[in-house]
Amino acid sequence: MAQINPDFAKELKKYGAFDFNACYNCGTCTAVCSLSDENNSFPRKMVRLSVLGLEDELQSSVDPWLCYYCGECSTTCPQQTDPGELMMSLRRYLTAKYDWTGLAGKLYTSKIWEFGAIIFLAAVILVLFIFFHGPMTTELTSEGGVKLNTFAPWKQIEIGDWIMAGLLSFFLLSNIFNMYLKIVVSRKDISVPFKLYFTELWALAVHFATQKQFSKCDTQLSGKKIEFSTYWIIHLFLMTSYVIMLIMIMVFLPWFQTDNIYEWWHPQRLLGYYATIGLTVGVVYFFIERINKTSEKSKHSHVTDWTFLVLLFLTTITGILVHFFRIYGLPYATYYMYVFHLMVLFPMLMIEVPFSKWSHLAYRPFAIYFNNLVKAAQHSEAKNIAPSLA
Ligand code: SF4
Ligand code: SF4
Repeated sequence: MAQINPDFAKELKKYGAFDFNACYNCGTCTAVCSLSDENNSFPRKMVRLSVLGLEDELQSSVDPWLCYYCGECSTTCPQQTDPGELMMSLRRYLTAKYDWTGLAGKLYTSKIWEFGAIIFLAAVILVLFIFFHGPMTTELTSEGGVKLNTFAPWKQIEIGDWIMAGLLSFFLLSNIFNMYLKIVVSRKDISVPFKLYFTELWALAVHFATQKQFSKCDTQLSGKKIEFSTYWIIHLFLMTSYVIMLIMIMVFLPWFQTDNIYEWWHPQRLLGYYATIGLTVGVVYFFIERINKTSEKSKHSHVTDWTFLVLLFLTTITGILVHFFRIYGLPYATYYMYVFHLMVLFPMLMIEVPFSKWSHLAYRPFAIYFNNLVKAAQHSEAKNIAPSLA
C-alpha cells in the first residue's frame, strides 16, 4: 500500500524545490528532455510523484541521478514549475534519505548546522595544531625552502589522513549501501542474479571516471543553446582534480608533502599542478556561472552550493600560498597558512564527501549501476518467462 505524505511539498522546499504543485501534467517537459523515452516519462513522473507525496516511490527511483540539469524542461514548462530545479532538490532530498546518520538532512536544511559543523571541524584542527605541532624552525633546507615536515611531520599528518579516510569511506559506503537497499532490494518483483553484480561493474567504473551522462544534454548560456560538452569538460577537469588531490593527501602524503619542492618535473609536482589548475579553473567557472546566473541550473543556488565552492576555493588558494611560501623561504607564513589550509580542507572533505555536494559524484554512477542491475534482472526474468508461455 503506497504511503502518501501530504506535507511533502513543504519538506522538499527545504531542499530548494519551487511550487511544483502548479504542474498540470501537460508533458512538455517530457517532450523536450533528452533522457525520456517510451518507457520513462522523464521528468514528469518525478513531478507527479512529488505532487502526490509518494516518498517510497521517490526514494526507490534513480531518475533524479540521471538528470544533469540542462534546464530545458524548466525553460519550456508553461507553468514555471521548474522541473529541473525539482530534480536538483530531489537529489539533495535523496542524499539526506540515504544517510542513516541524519547529518546530511540537517546540513542541507539548517544553516546553523552547516556553518556550525564547518566551524567545529576547523576548530578541531586548530586545537590539534596548538598542542601537537613540531618546532617552528626558521632554518631553511639547502635549496632555501621551508622545513614544513619539521613543523608538521608527515607521519603524524598521515595518521590523521588515514583516520579521516576511514571515516569518509565508512559513511559514504554505508550510505551507498542504504541507496542499494532502497533502489534494488526494495523491488519485490525482481531478484538480481549474482553474476550481474560483476558483469555490470564496468558501467560503474566508466560513469565514475567520465561522468559521461553530462554529454546527453544541451544547455542555455545567455539565452543561446550550446552543447553541454563545455560544461562536461570543465566538470570533469574539476572532478578529476578533486579526486587526485584526495588520493594524494590520503594515500601518497609522504610523496606529496616532501621537502623536495624544487623538482617541478617530478610526478608528484605535476599531479599537484594538474589538480591545482583544475580546481582553480573549475571553481572560478562555477563561481562566475552562479553569480551571473548564466544558465538554468545556476539560477537557483542553495546555500550548500556556495559553501562547497567557497571551501574548495579557500582550499585551493591556501594550498597555492603554502607552496609559494615554502619555495620562497618564508617559515612563519608557511606554518600559519598550512594550519589554515588544513582548517578548510578538513571540513570540506568531512562534510562534502559523505554528506553533501560531493557525494553526487559517487551516487550518480552507483545509481546507473543499480539501474542497470534492475533492468538486466527484469530482462533475464522476461526471457525465462517467455519460453514457458510459448
Ligand atoms: S511541463 Fe511543467 S506543467 Fe507540463 S508536465 Fe512538465 S512540469 Fe508539469
Ligand atoms: S534538467 Fe534536462 S536532463 Fe534534467 S529533467 Fe530537465 S530536461 Fe531532463
